[in-house]
Amino acid sequence: MRLRFAPSPTGYIHVGNVRTALFNFLHAKKHNGEFILRIEDTDIERSTKEYEESLLNSIKWLGLSWNEGPDIGGEYGPYRQSERIDLYKKHAHQLMEEGKAYYCFCTPEELEIEREKAKKEGKPYKYSGKCRDIPMEEAQKRVDSGEKAVIRFKMPQEKDFKYNDLIRGEISFDLNLFGDFVIIRSNGLPSYNYAVVIDDHFMKITDIIRGEDHISNTPKQIKLYEAFGWTPPNFGHLSMVLGPDGSPLSKRHGATSLVQFDEMGYLPEALLNYLAMLGWAPPEDREILSLNELIKLFDITKVSKSGAIFDYNKLNWVNKKHIQNLSEEEILIRGEKFLKDKKIMDGFTTLGDKEKEWFKKAVKAIKTNLTTLTDLPDELNIFFEYKTDKEAFKELREESGKKVLNLLYKTFKEKKEISVKDIFDFIKTAKNEGIKGKELFHPMRVIFTGQSSGVELDKFLEIIGSGDNLSFKRKPLSLFERLEKAINIINKQ
Ligand code: GLU
Repeated sequence: MRLRFAPSPTGYIHVGNVRTALFNFLHAKKHNGEFILRIEDTDIERSTKEYEESLLNSIKWLGLSWNEGPDIGGEYGPYRQSERIDLYKKHAHQLMEEGKAYYCFCTPEELEIEREKAKKEGKPYKYSGKCRDIPMEEAQKRVDSGEKAVIRFKMPQEKDFKYNDLIRGEISFDLNLFGDFVIIRSNGLPSYNYAVVIDDHFMKITDIIRGEDHISNTPKQIKLYEAFGWTPPNFGHLSMVLGPDGSPLSKRHGATSLVQFDEMGYLPEALLNYLAMLGWAPPEDREILSLNELIKLFDITKVSKSGAIFDYNKLNWVNKKHIQNLSEEEILIRGEKFLKDKKIMDGFTTLGDKEKEWFKKAVKAIKTNLTTLTDLPDELNIFFEYKTDKEAFKELREESGKKVLNLLYKTFKEKKEISVKDIFDFIKTAKNEGIKGKELFHPMRVIFTGQSSGVELDKFLEIIGSGDNLSFKRKPLSLFERLEKAINIINKQ
């Protein structure tokens, strides 16, 4: 099996397109087939190299690789349509010689009149076929003398044309509604419907999965295959990706381009996992899957015909699950750019061994709170800053809270340092004073963390205590500094 993804480099890649790429990839790999990347850049005004590069990088970022493509070449290249122009011309001439295509000299103005007329009569527009019967010799002379012409394909007229869609089953069309369509434009470049057939044939594509917006192009393409005497591939058309309100997914629903998802701290494997479930449900309710598992389980015949809603909450859930599956070290490496931005570190690899261990411990304590990697600096901040919760501080103003606070301050104010061992000793001292259990630990949690909930107190103390003598870009706030801050807050009011 040979499948392809054939994007036009006319913009940044959108999640809808990425899902198309992914489904082609999964279907190919499931059957040990090849996945080919082809760039459809015949719209020269809108296509750019920058978009092409960004397309390739985005698909790579997602973890998909291709067997043949514009960057790596392959047996059936070139893989950019702009480099295949001669091939399109040659075959268009073959069709003309066989009487299956013809030069058309109708000007845009003439065609506009035809269109207007159809509109007035309330009929769907279809090219009149005016130039169909111009003898080939005469047409060639006009072209040779410099007259502008397009080449049109004689679309066979058939009342009940059918094809079997991989996803939608049998679809039928009345081809009388289809006019002769342009295959080569007056600037010598091929039209989409034509170039795609030439390329898919010569690239030996066996199956095509694409968006439902191409359903009405399929009869034109199949008729071209037949005109050449070639076997058409199988076609499957995916439903649209919709926003939560049911309208086609667009920028106003939130992020839609892949680059944005990266910047927002989504893991590529999570986005890929989520995209695979847009229109397809893995068996046995298994939802958190790696690319290899997706390949094994994917089944194109089980893909839904109805629109798939892009649910950002579900994506968050999937991302969260994938983050839990990463080791602490991987989280720190993948989240490096976000930690750099918040000046927490310059990069995991620049840290010493002890500092690395410290950060891993810190991440372990907050890992379950991470929905995206952008949460990483915020969550780690509890170790670097003293973020206080007003409600929690009420407790320190009560009798029992005050007692703990004063006792702590009395014990450590000279030493100005608190180690983890000191804390254990302090707990004993407090017990001797008759303070223990909740009465002791609740206020201690508020004093040291500033909050009444969050990371368990003993873990928190251990992490802060073990960071004391390490060298950090930014120092974690020590236990003594925390105690001083708590005292200041209480004394101020
Ligand atoms: N370049 C076309 C698109 O991006 C490809 C469609 C197809 O897969 O045939 O829509």
